Amino acid sequence: MNIHEHQAKEILKEFGAPVSKGIVIFSINEISKKISNLKSGEFVLKAQIHAGGRGKAGGVKLIKNISDLEKEAKLMMGKILVTHQTGPEGKKVKRLYIEEASDIAKEFYLSCLIDRESSKIAFISSTEGGMDIEKVASETPNKIITNKIDLRNEGLNSEEIEKIISIFKLNEKQKIIASKLIKSLYDIIIKKDASLIEINPLIITKSDELICLDAKMNFDDNAIFRRPEILELRDLNEEDPAEIEASKHDLAYIKLNGSIGCMVNGAGLAMATMDIIKLYGREPANFLDVGGGATKEKVAAAFKLILSDKNVKGILINIFGGIMRCDVLAQGVLDAAKEINLSVPLVVRLAGTNFKEGKEILDKSNIKILSAFDLNDAAKKIIEAIQ
Ligand code: GDP
Ligand code: MG
Repeated sequence: MNIHEHQAKEILKEFGAPVSKGIVIFSINEISKKISNLKSGEFVLKAQIHAGGRGKAGGVKLIKNISDLEKEAKLMMGKILVTHQTGPEGKKVKRLYIEEASDIAKEFYLSCLIDRESSKIAFISSTEGGMDIEKVASETPNKIITNKIDLRNEGLNSEEIEKIISIFKLNEKQKIIASKLIKSLYDIIIKKDASLIEINPLIITKSDELICLDAKMNFDDNAIFRRPEILELRDLNEEDPAEIEASKHDLAYIKLNGSIGCMVNGAGLAMATMDIIKLYGREPANFLDVGGGATKEKVAAAFKLILSDKNVKGILINIFGGIMRCDVLAQGVLDAAKEINLSVPLVVRLAGTNFKEGKEILDKSNIKILSAFDLNDAAKKIIEAIQ
């Protein structure tokens, strides 16, 4: 689960990390009521969306005075912001963060994340702040250092902290603040089940202060149940409606941009199905794993979910009946197809438990369904059908 920058900064503050003072607004008339909480004469106006790259897309503005602030806020609120992380459809700005502006002397990059490969907590630090870190990693890898912390050691020791911040070449006073920041990030990972905290940029101001100027935080969905205060920060506006619907039915669904909808049981089989569609020159419209023990209702919900995507020109159902029986699935498909006016071609490939019974159910129905005997056949048939 992702949260907004202003929420992430609130958490950073709670854990003792240095952030600027700011206010969040949901409508323009809140500015006049709240602005007296900020001291500086200059502000930064920041669009709050769950995506980075706002600066280059006009979602971060340096403002010299209050009248400009209102003017710019009116322009930014409600705008569709397209950044390299939003996709071409962009994201609608529904809240703004107004922060006391900082005078930047240096910009760094600092992040802390769970490194699944090594089962450790990794800190990534770089002197190239405010940049796309993937680009820095590929073009100037010597400007990035990664330090991995073993969880069994119960916290960080001063040597490890030294290493993490060494690349920044800080003075003694800044080192003390930076060390505290490193501990704060580590604590947030542990105590809030965050999976990623990214401070880009972490800055040094002209008056020598260290400040987290931007903040991105992700949390482990599987641990959210024990962090109700984090779940409260969820903003459904930022999530795909179809993915919200999917999570209600406990379906693993990710919308993609292609035209062939897929319904599959098992993540590995889903990946293989997407691969084979691509192999035959088409793009899948989604990843959808209905799971091992899918009920008739769950299958029907999955079917409706796929059909709610207007890009879908055809559907490929690929089921291996293990725990899930093929006849149960076939019934679910039929029920859903009756409810929704099925207007796109449907190819079904069933294998495993009760596949004969499943095929019989589908064959007997008066809905046009194409059967396939293997994956290649299924991919060819659906592509032919939508052409
Ligand atoms: P992002 O583009 O979505 O990552 O948004 P950021 O919060 O990182 O802001 C983008 C850029 O705006 C930063 O890298 C800074 O260069 C600049 N910026 C943000 N806040 C301030 C500020 O208080 N003062 C100045 N001078 N620049 C800022
Ligand atoms: Mg940033």
